[in-house]
Amino acid sequence: MSINTIDIKISPCVKQFYTLGTIIELKVHGPNAEKSIIEAISKLSQIDDKMSVFKDFSEVSIINRNAGISYCKVSDDTYFVIKRAVEYSKLSGGAFEPTIRPLVGLWGVNTDHARIPKLDEIRYYMRLINYKDIILNDKDKSIILRNENQQIDLGAIAKGFAADKVKDILIENNIENAIIDLGGNIYALGNKPDGALWNIGIQDPIKVRGEYVGIVSVKNKSIVTSGNYERYFIEEGKRYHHIINPMTGAPSENDIISATVISEYSIDGDALTTCVYVMGIKKGLKLIESIEGTEAIFITKDKQVYVTQGIVDTFKLTNEEYTYKTQ
Ligand code: AMP
Ligand code: MG
Repeated sequence: MSINTIDIKISPCVKQFYTLGTIIELKVHGPNAEKSIIEAISKLSQIDDKMSVFKDFSEVSIINRNAGISYCKVSDDTYFVIKRAVEYSKLSGGAFEPTIRPLVGLWGVNTDHARIPKLDEIRYYMRLINYKDIILNDKDKSIILRNENQQIDLGAIAKGFAADKVKDILIENNIENAIIDLGGNIYALGNKPDGALWNIGIQDPIKVRGEYVGIVSVKNKSIVTSGNYERYFIEEGKRYHHIINPMTGAPSENDIISATVISEYSIDGDALTTCVYVMGIKKGLKLIESIEGTEAIFITKDKQVYVTQGIVDTFKLTNEEYTYKTQ
């Protein structure tokens, strides 16, 4: 498989390309930068080939086609990601829901058939949604969905996994400083080459890309944001975005319009941002506070910014339109 890349600069080596349904930018410093990026691109396209629901031959598509029929053996990567997805479903009381695919398809956000479904259609598809129907066999790494027509969607966790894999490849290549950006799912490796921390802007969810609410200064951390501005359609003045609340079958509606999680591993940050986006501020803050070494920034509709205790010193609000709330 070949992927077109665009070279932006020679040093650091920066490449942009498209895979995993998003624009990826790798900015890598150091002698092995080019080589490590080539290896990373190859790994990312492998992950997409295994986990995309848009590729008929992917392992996820094979599991989906065999729902209610037979167990499918999958690669270590796919098994690991699906297992973690189920763990996050349990941890979030079902807010995170890897069998959400039939509803995602019904709403069609970001497709040419995006529309508001009828209530009875939503009800019909909701019967198919239940992470407890993902049956995992650790012995031979095979998976089956209990009932026909059930479908897995790893869109809320695969990019995080992929960012961790890119980080591993860079480290194997002795890279010390890099920014891995998988469509806003960021991993900041090491420091900046001058020794300072990386400054990562938290996107203003109401403004165009590149305008920020604040900045976090980090090293060796994953920073992932889920927001209602990423993928959506507007009908009769109302915004319908891509994160579905499994309890209602509709795009999640609460105060949060952007949730950022800062963590060691990006797979955790990716899953958790989706969890807390659906859970809302109160439950979301409680969940993140209960996980050591993980912090969060929530932005509400009324322009308030909530942060967890551990990030008060690292997060700087830079946008005067927003109000900073410590709990
Ligand atoms: P993220 O941007 O990481 O929050 O992931 C959103 C993507 O995950 C959507 O485009 C869907 O493919 C899928 N998704 C939507 N709602 C959920 C949910 N409640 N749990 C898990 N995955 C979801
Ligand atoms: Mg996610």
